Amino acid sequence: MNSMYFTEEHISFRESFKEFLQKEVVPHINKWEKEGTIERFIWTKFGEMGYFGINQPEEDGGLGLDLFYTVIFLEELQKINSGGFAAAMWAHAYLAMTHLNKEGDARIKKAYLTPSINGEKIGCLCISEPFGGSDVAGMRTNAVKKDDTYVINGSKTFITNGVYSDYLVVAAKTNLEEKHKGMSIFIVDRNTPGISSTKLDKLGWRASDTAEIAFDNVVIPAENLMGEEGKGFPYIMQHFALERLIMAINAHARAEYAVDYVLKYMSEREAFGKTLDQFQALRHKVAEMASKVDMCREYNYSITKRLDDGAYVVKEASMSKMLSTKIADEVIYDALQLLGGYGYMEEYPLARLLRDSRLGPIGGGTSEILKEIIAKMIIDKKEYKPVS
Ligand SMILES: Cc1cc2nc3c(=O)[nH]c(=O)nc-3n(C[C@H](O)[C@H](O)[C@H](O)COP(=O)(O)OP(=O)(O)OC[C@H]3O[C@@H](n4cnc5c(N)ncnc54)[C@H](O)[C@@H]3O)c2cc1C
Repeated sequence: MNSMYFTEEHISFRESFKEFLQKEVVPHINKWEKEGTIERFIWTKFGEMGYFGINQPEEDGGLGLDLFYTVIFLEELQKINSGGFAAAMWAHAYLAMTHLNKEGDARIKKAYLTPSINGEKIGCLCISEPFGGSDVAGMRTNAVKKDDTYVINGSKTFITNGVYSDYLVVAAKTNLEEKHKGMSIFIVDRNTPGISSTKLDKLGWRASDTAEIAFDNVVIPAENLMGEEGKGFPYIMQHFALERLIMAINAHARAEYAVDYVLKYMSEREAFGKTLDQFQALRHKVAEMASKVDMCREYNYSITKRLDDGAYVVKEASMSKMLSTKIADEVIYDALQLLGGYGYMEEYPLARLLRDSRLGPIGGGTSEILKEIIAKMIIDKKEYKPVS
């Protein structure tokens, strides 16, 4: 473990979290993967253990810890090999809850953030729409102010925790004439009349529920606006730096899991009278895989440190997501090959890992969109600034 970033406290947190996952989560994973539902008791247990609050303020019930605890949380979730379970947990804790923390007022924090930290309420973040996910500012869902309410109409899709969550953090247009400046963020309670969710079937992330959500004249109190009206787009972009880094860390962690698994497998499996790890071609393949993972991990740690120190690392987080997710896919593809026919079997971990990994270059900003952003920053010298 890299001691430049991890203290004794971090290391003991990792050990206890690993133990917790093995005891409380791993025995249920295959069931949740099959049923596409994560039972409620585990959310409560995560809450009781304080895991949802590791980077949330102490005054709201969190632990206020540095981002390397988040790194450990994410890495260890990847290493139990259910991208879907991991996604449900981090989408709640880092997509929905980040908006509650940063833009929610005291009332919203009390009603939603603290219960989210405790594992009593589950959240989701609704940005992508059926008409387009990459063009965030082109969204059509709208919120019209009427007296002391907003009325929301429209639809969202591919929303993680979109079926079973208790509340929704929703991006909607408050001014349809404007693109970037016409968007706002709202907290919407699941029980509000007019909301319906349809569960989607998908290639991987099978333990997590992914939904299309319709909003049909959903009336919410005007005080459910989070932050300022018209600032939704910059809020989303600001948090994308953390979200992208999270997806990059997930990528290096699952690739590392694949390399570790393959090393063990190759030391045991024999062909032509010797173990696989004695064939030069395969040794070189593993050397290449391990090197790529190491490069990603070290880069991601250094960007985490800068983000934790308060730097606005939007370019670096975009770079790290773009490359780490690509490398994870390559490494996992090669790892599956090294298992031969067993790689293709559900009984072995690589089949699920390959499916789950494929979402990396798509979700939270596709690789193509990230290249656009990076190109604008390095060629056109465009600067993205945090919201003041
Ligand atoms: C399992 C899963 C979970 C998800 N969870 C969430 C969630 O919790 N909340 C949420 O809001 N969203 C979520 N998403 C949505 C995800 O962020 C979007 O799928 C993603 O942003 C891409 O949007 P899209 O699918 O509409 O693709 P499109 O925008 O239709 O893009 C289609 C293709 O065209 C490319 N493309 C588009 N524009 C350009 C361009 N200008 N230049 C070059 N190429 C371009 C894209 O890269 C892509 O390859 C999830 C998606 C999945 C699959």
